[in-house]
Amino acid sequence: IKRIGLLTSGGDAPGMNGAIRAVTRSANYHGLEVVGISHGYRGMINKAFKTLESKDVSNILQQGGTILKSARCMEFKTIEGRKKAYDNLIEAKIDALVVIGGDGTFTGAGLFAKEHNFPVVGIPGTIDNDLYGTDFTIGYDTALNTIVDCVDKIKDTATAHERLFFIEVMGRDAGFLALNGGIAAGSEAVLIPEIPTSYADLKSYLANGYRKSKNSSIVLVAEGEKEGGAFNWAKRVEKDFPDYDVRVTILGHIQRGGTPSASDRILASRLGAGAIEALMDDQKSIMIGIENGEIVHVPFTKAIKNQKGVKQQQLDLVKILSN
Ligand code: ADP
Repeated sequence: IKRIGLLTSGGDAPGMNGAIRAVTRSANYHGLEVVGISHGYRGMINKAFKTLESKDVSNILQQGGTILKSARCMEFKTIEGRKKAYDNLIEAKIDALVVIGGDGTFTGAGLFAKEHNFPVVGIPGTIDNDLYGTDFTIGYDTALNTIVDCVDKIKDTATAHERLFFIEVMGRDAGFLALNGGIAAGSEAVLIPEIPTSYADLKSYLANGYRKSKNSSIVLVAEGEKEGGAFNWAKRVEKDFPDYDVRVTILGHIQRGGTPSASDRILASRLGAGAIEALMDDQKSIMIGIENGEIVHVPFTKAIKNQKGVKQQQLDLVKILSN
């Protein structure tokens, strides 16, 4: 391996830049070249290639977003699209690929690697933390901190006006942000896709909170929650809690931005260096992860298909602590 293509794809996450820096600098350190591919898989099809040198990744460790840009690319979902991408990589003398993204990105990477017998290594970059085989994904910690900061602020105004807030956070299939955001910000309840909460239970949690302080309540709702999201729940409880002024806040894309936390920077740095080491060690079709503090290699198929899973015990903690 001499020249490594590097791209960021799918949903962006704070800390992706740290991974770009780490991949580039580790590769350079080991005498390998890195070619930055812009706009994810679209850049492979459009030949958007540019060599990355050490100076190109200076001063990006602390920046959110991704200097390589991210995009969704429908053409890469076709065999023809992936063949075109492969021909372009060969023409540019790129002989391995590092992709930074989420499960969609790894699904595409797995197909591409198999069809063209091409070495691809993945780095988990998604705020949702929904990849199996790594304790954390790049961007999750930063997003979680953003959520806690926002919920704290909403709590101030909720208390001042005796309001009940349903706050919707990101997480299409995973409730990690809602669950741990709820624990860290001291919410009354969390509603997540993995373990549904019944309306009766929610009512009793809220009634508890009301008895306790009679001033405000916060419920965190994951966007992928099965009962129709924050607005739906707000409408349902309005009738049952006439003393509360019920409001909804959708945190939205604010969760994707901002300066990456120290944890995300360290994670990105370790995973980026780990990706280069794995390629030098002839590894392919694996995601680099960290489990219990150690770098691990997880086959793409496992990282995508297996569920990290939320434990009932974690959900119970919200209940116990809001009692
Ligand atoms: P994420 O990586 O954050 O989950 P997406 O699901 O949008 O983001 O996937 C990013 C890109 O990966 C897509 O735009 C597409 O180019 C590629 N991709 C996703 N799913 C597939 C698939 N089933 N086959 C091939 N490529 C895919």
